[in-house]
Amino acid sequence: MARDVMSVRLWLPLVRVLGVAADLPERLVVRVASTVGHPKCPHCSAPSGRVHDRRDNKVRDLEVSGRPVTLVWERRRMVCEPCGRRFCEDHPAFEGRLTARLARRVVADARAMTVNAAARRHRLGWDLVNSLVVAWAGLVADRRRRRRCRLLLVEETSIRKRHRYVTVLVNGDTGEVLAMVPHRSQAALTAFLAAQGHRWCRGVKVVVSDGSAAYKAAISAKLGHARHVLDRFHVIRWFQSGLTAVRRDVQRRPEGSKPRFDPDVFRARFLLMRRPDTLDAAERERLDAVFAAHPRLKAAWDALGELHGLYLAKNRKGALEALDRFADIYGTGQIPEFSDVVDTFLAWHEQILGWHQAGQPSNGPIEGTNNLLQVLRRKAHGSANYTNLEARGILTT
Ligand SMILES: [Zn+2]
Repeated sequence: MARDVMSVRLWLPLVRVLGVAADLPERLVVRVASTVGHPKCPHCSAPSGRVHDRRDNKVRDLEVSGRPVTLVWERRRMVCEPCGRRFCEDHPAFEGRLTARLARRVVADARAMTVNAAARRHRLGWDLVNSLVVAWAGLVADRRRRRRCRLLLVEETSIRKRHRYVTVLVNGDTGEVLAMVPHRSQAALTAFLAAQGHRWCRGVKVVVSDGSAAYKAAISAKLGHARHVLDRFHVIRWFQSGLTAVRRDVQRRPEGSKPRFDPDVFRARFLLMRRPDTLDAAERERLDAVFAAHPRLKAAWDALGELHGLYLAKNRKGALEALDRFADIYGTGQIPEFSDVVDTFLAWHEQILGWHQAGQPSNGPIEGTNNLLQVLRRKAHGSANYTNLEARGILTT
């Protein structure tokens, strides 16, 4: 017994153990008081030594040898002599109904598991644990947002499957979520950047986003000095849409035939999307067989390969050469389905080719964060509210 009570005392600075109220196998209750002689008045900052009365505050602490520990803090109500007002003393070891060290442990556990699991482990309510997590995430986010961010990643994600969108902002150098703001509009991103302030914005050298016109407008208004680069995966998806359009046309068979689609072409649809340099010999052979029957599909596939080359190139010069080769294929008129791709490229060429000059930023961190958010959302059964989602995003990055 003495040892457990002693550990309470040793663990908590500025706390004196008054006695043991209950020492049972299933719980330990210890009465404690502050050793601070003259707490400061919150109204006038004068130290006060006049005690008006004392009230018991129950504070949960870390378990000792598997036993839940409750501290009964004899909290003093002081009278401030200079200003005459009464106030309840504060104590650095206590945060509301928990000791500061228990609160820290709960947050650490919630990071590794879910809020639910952390609540169960510490026998605390979900609301209490969640509010600790949200408060902690707020402090962390504040600190992250004050630091300089050289590479800013902007991406939208949906909460509640496609019904509501949030804009996720990530420091691309550290992979840390800086904020998640509601909506995916120009106003949403502009408001975030305005709140970050002019100095912070000036520190951003590269910003990576998807091909949203709303983001583009906000970025050119607030981060006009930075290099705006399009997220590589989004661009590749655009490029792939050209090949998909050609493939759909090629695989179609005349009315009335069965099956309606050429099964060989249809079955090759995923293989077609793979980057040429990642195919093995057998996969290449399968594709060649399909191409022998459908030269237009081969042309489309070659065209997409050159567009991949924009990113495989070592530098801007190499990218422009790949683009030249793409233009040669497109110029033959065999693959008019790529006209949308060409239009999109022309509208965004600066942000696409800028990837090389921006040091070829990886969008890995934000993709990773997005995957993580999907997992979090599933864990929350699709009903994650936005504040909790942001807290979890910050907590886990
Ligand atoms: Zn006072």
